[in-house]
Amino acid sequence: DVSAPTPDIPPEIREWLSQDRLLLIDGKWVPAQSGKTFDVTDPATGEIIAKVAEGDKADVDLAVKAARRAFESGPWPRMTPSARGRLLHKIGDLILEHADELAALEAIDNGKPKAVAKAADVALSADMFHYMSGWATKIEGKTIPISALAAPGSDFFSVTRPEPIGVVGQIIPWNFPLLMAAWKLAPALTTGCTVVLKVAEETPLSALRLGELLLEAGLPDGVVNIIAGFGETAGAPLAAHPDVNKVAFTGSTEVGKIIVRAAANDLKRVSLELGGKSPNIILPDADLSLAIPGANAAIFFNHGQCCNAGSRLFVHRSLFDQVVEGIAAEAGKIRLGHGLAVDTEMGPLVSSVQYERVTGYLESGRAEGARTVSCGNAVPSGKGYFVPPTILTDTNPNMKVVREEIFGPVLVATPYDEVDDALIAEANNSVYGLAAGVWGRDTGRAQQVAHRLRAGTVWVNCYHVFDAALPFGGYKQSGWGREMGQAVLSNYLETKAITTRLGSL
Ligand code: NAD
Repeated sequence: DVSAPTPDIPPEIREWLSQDRLLLIDGKWVPAQSGKTFDVTDPATGEIIAKVAEGDKADVDLAVKAARRAFESGPWPRMTPSARGRLLHKIGDLILEHADELAALEAIDNGKPKAVAKAADVALSADMFHYMSGWATKIEGKTIPISALAAPGSDFFSVTRPEPIGVVGQIIPWNFPLLMAAWKLAPALTTGCTVVLKVAEETPLSALRLGELLLEAGLPDGVVNIIAGFGETAGAPLAAHPDVNKVAFTGSTEVGKIIVRAAANDLKRVSLELGGKSPNIILPDADLSLAIPGANAAIFFNHGQCCNAGSRLFVHRSLFDQVVEGIAAEAGKIRLGHGLAVDTEMGPLVSSVQYERVTGYLESGRAEGARTVSCGNAVPSGKGYFVPPTILTDTNPNMKVVREEIFGPVLVATPYDEVDDALIAEANNSVYGLAAGVWGRDTGRAQQVAHRLRAGTVWVNCYHVFDAALPFGGYKQSGWGREMGQAVLSNYLETKAITTRLGSL
């Protein structure tokens, strides 16, 4: 048992947190119409660190109105692509300039180690804006030769013109608060859309700070509006708002289905990035010096709070004990503590709700007969929501811990006998299809396995490799559409076909 001393919050952040954080509507920071606020807690201590305006339907209505005005008559969609791209690039630069501060905010709000937040969340967020800034000038249509069978003898000229979809409602979760905001905002902005972003109630702080940087970069009023608030009172009215043209959502599959139903009323466009229960397969010829730390990071990075976590491990029976022991030894070295402490490698889970959820799954696994391999980490005492890395073995495919997304540091490990159809079927035996990993020295064979996995991302001899240039998203109930890369642009564009009758020359 170790205690988690709370390091001092840097003074400039303490000062920023000492004032109620407000909503960004039409370029101004405003309190909620209701005057309500809600408390934000540090999950490592359970202490309240900030008060944030609690937006609801009335604020969403104002934000959508501002976004609509900015879209219909503001400069944003009419700005030259080059100017829009430069502004996005500047946002990326500002994120890097404020990397330390943003990483500290993630550490105290989400719980993740500050060093990880700086190297991963903040760096990838900046890169997302930098990468997307280049697309502003490259959103091109086509010229299409048509036959116009019903108009013989006439000559036509047809082109497609991609146009921004309009006002976009975006709803994001708490596991990568800044990065999810960046994944959503950067592509919507590069296409010329305007946005109402609803941030997660658990972790509103870094996105609110990003809002200040957007204004500093010179983003015109109303182009991005940020609402902090709860799912049912702020997220639901945004998803159902008749003047929102498209909803982009990241979060649970359960809420994703609610979003689709809400959006169905007026057939808004919807893209979804949802849950996962990703298989990670160690082939008999795998290099274990890569695969063991790789499988460890695949599940335990970000405390298992990754939609793409490698949560179902399949290991050839000849290697099973060695791999499970190896991962337990590797995971046992992870130091748990407060996200701001310099030696912390794993923080607390994000909230008491997640703590109850994850420990509930561990109990359910035990009750259903799974064996628990504890990795032996020292867990900080006190009120923080710490759950140490845990491996479950002796499971069967029907157990809740095997079927459902736990979203915590819990790995389910299963041995297999042959690399055959049965293994592939078992790996694909999930309602989800977000990601997968394959480890093997024979990369041709690993590729063959990769081709047969029903998942939007497959990593071979690596895991968690993300890049702004690579599309990411799910098969099956893991979602609709793709984030990042060129692929994400279609989430925010309509295609208009324009045909002109030509005269005779
Ligand atoms: P969630 O789906 O409930 O919340 C995600 C976002 O949706 C939040 O901003 C929330 O306020 C909003 N929301 C909730 N209910 C809504 C509604 N009815 N209408 C509109 N918006 C609504 O996720 P959670 O409670 O934060 O976590 C629950 C589970 O979701 C996790 O345990 C995990 O399995 C999964 N999850 C997945 C991801 C992912 O990246 N795929 C991220 C976070 C959580």
